[in-house]
Amino acid sequence: MPSYTLIGSSLLSKPYILNQSLAHEILHQYFGSSISNVQGKGNWLEGLTTYLADDYLKKLQSRDVLNRKTVLSQFQTYINSNNDFSIKDFEYRVDKQSMLIGYSKFSHVMFMLENKLGNEKFRHLIKEFYLTNQNKNLSLKEFGGFFEKNTKVDLKTFFKQWFEQTGMIDFSVENMKTHFDNKGFWVSFDVLQNKNNFFVFDLPVSIQTYDKTLRKVIAIHKPKQKVKLNFNSEVLSLNFDDKYTLFRTLSQREKLLSMMAGGEELDKLEVELKEMNRISS
Ligand SMILES: [Zn+2]
Repeated sequence: MPSYTLIGSSLLSKPYILNQSLAHEILHQYFGSSISNVQGKGNWLEGLTTYLADDYLKKLQSRDVLNRKTVLSQFQTYINSNNDFSIKDFEYRVDKQSMLIGYSKFSHVMFMLENKLGNEKFRHLIKEFYLTNQNKNLSLKEFGGFFEKNTKVDLKTFFKQWFEQTGMIDFSVENMKTHFDNKGFWVSFDVLQNKNNFFVFDLPVSIQTYDKTLRKVIAIHKPKQKVKLNFNSEVLSLNFDDKYTLFRTLSQREKLLSMMAGGEELDKLEVELKEMNRISS
C-alpha cells in the first residue's frame, strides 16, 4: 500500500540521521512506500534498502570491506543452529538475530548478486524493478523472480540457497601441493564443505607470484572440490576471499588477527606456500 515517512525537525539534525538513517528512509520511499512486500511472504524491503543506502554510504567512505568483515564476525558470534532461520521467514526486526538475518545477511546476498551479474546489469535491473512494479506488493519469490526473468545468468540455485537455506558458507582449504614440470608451476588443493551445509559459490583467489599479483575466481559446486591451477612463475602465496565478498565463516586466524589489531586490520585467509609440502618433478 503506498505510504510515506515523516521525520521530525528535532531528529533531522542528529548525526546518525544525516549519516545513515536519512538515506535509508529515502530509499524506503522507493522500496517500502512505492513498492511494498506481501505480509507473510518474506520481507525483502529491509535488506535491499540496507544494501542500496547504508552499505552504499560505507562504500563511499571506503569502509565497505571492513563492514562486510564485521557483519560476518557478528553473524558467526550471534547466530547458531538454535536461533538461525532462513531469509524467507524474516518479517520484522525484533532483536539482534532477526536484524542480522533480515538486514545484514540479505544485504550481503544483494552484494553477491551484484558481483554475479556485474555492476552495470545490477544497477539497470534495480531501476527496471522500480519502474515496472510501482504501487504493487511483491512477495520475496516475486522479488527474486524478477532477477531470474531478466538475466541470462542462472539464479535458481543462488536464490534457493540464500533465501531458503540457513547459515553461511563454511569451507576449508586442505591438501595444498605445488609442483613444477615442463608446463610450468602447478598449485593444487581441495576446497571442502560439510555435505549438510553445502553452498555453490564463486571463490575469489588472489595469487602472489614472483612476477605479479593475479586474481582468479573458482566455481565451487561440490562438497569436496579438487582444484589445480597453472602459472608461468612460482607462486608465493594464495589469499582466499580477501575482500570478504562471500557470506562465509571467518577462519580462527582471521578472527584472532582482527582482535589483535582492534578490529581495524584487514587481514587475510592467507596460505604461505613456503610452509607447505613441496613436490618437485
Ligand atoms: Zn528500514
